[in-house]
Amino acid sequence: MIIYEPKGKAYEYSPLALNYFSGCDHNCYYCYVNDQKGRWNPDYNHNVVEIKIDYDRIIKSAKKYKGCEKQILLSFTGDPYCQAENGETSKILEILNNFGHKVAILTKNPEKALKDIELIKSFGNRIKIGTTLTFDNDIHSLEWESGAPIPTSRISGLRQFSEAGVANFISFEPVIIPAQSLNLLSQVIPFVGSVKIGMLNYYKGIYKTIDWAKFLSDAVKILRDNGMDDKFYIKKNLNAYNKGVYLSENETNAEYHHL
Ligand code: SF4
Repeated sequence: MIIYEPKGKAYEYSPLALNYFSGCDHNCYYCYVNDQKGRWNPDYNHNVVEIKIDYDRIIKSAKKYKGCEKQILLSFTGDPYCQAENGETSKILEILNNFGHKVAILTKNPEKALKDIELIKSFGNRIKIGTTLTFDNDIHSLEWESGAPIPTSRISGLRQFSEAGVANFISFEPVIIPAQSLNLLSQVIPFVGSVKIGMLNYYKGIYKTIDWAKFLSDAVKILRDNGMDDKFYIKKNLNAYNKGVYLSENETNAEYHHL
């Protein structure tokens, strides 16, 4: 439970991260954490959130990284505003703010995060909040992410942060039904600060049925038509399918999109 440097695909999201919940009650079918942790511990059940936070250890870690000027993502192996969260995330934010850190919050429940909006605003330009959008309707969302807020809740929560002047982003990953991701992208462009677009990893082989080159081309067209040049990042795995779509250096440079 310390700040660490993510490797590989995770680095595309953030140069530093901090995971402080074990488990997540959003119950996403495609969640990679269960498989990953289950490899080392067959009894691990990612759907159960265990809260045993060693705040002293986190304070020491925050102190060690003081002045590093690198964004810390909350979090990779759980959701900072999962249902079980009960004030722990505000304590973590207070610690990171006290040491002047830059923070990116990624949550499927930005409406719940509104309870911490004053604390979040107190970071000034050292913070941004993002959500993941997958499905454009409640039926699919509840089928695939039964414990997570429905898409309209995520959009509404993020919009309220945007209106309050908090930097924000949306992650389109995983992309499971491309037409739905494109529909969502069109809906959020009027207020979102930046966008990250990925694909679906190896979940049940579904990715093999999708025309990723077309999805990439369609997504970039929507972004360009709406003046989002350089305000989006195409993840490496999706860009590997690129068949001639022009992307600027910033649109493929993960570091440009870190705080
Ligand atoms: S919100 Fe994230 S960590 Fe939680 S179950 Fe879904 S994919 Fe996994």
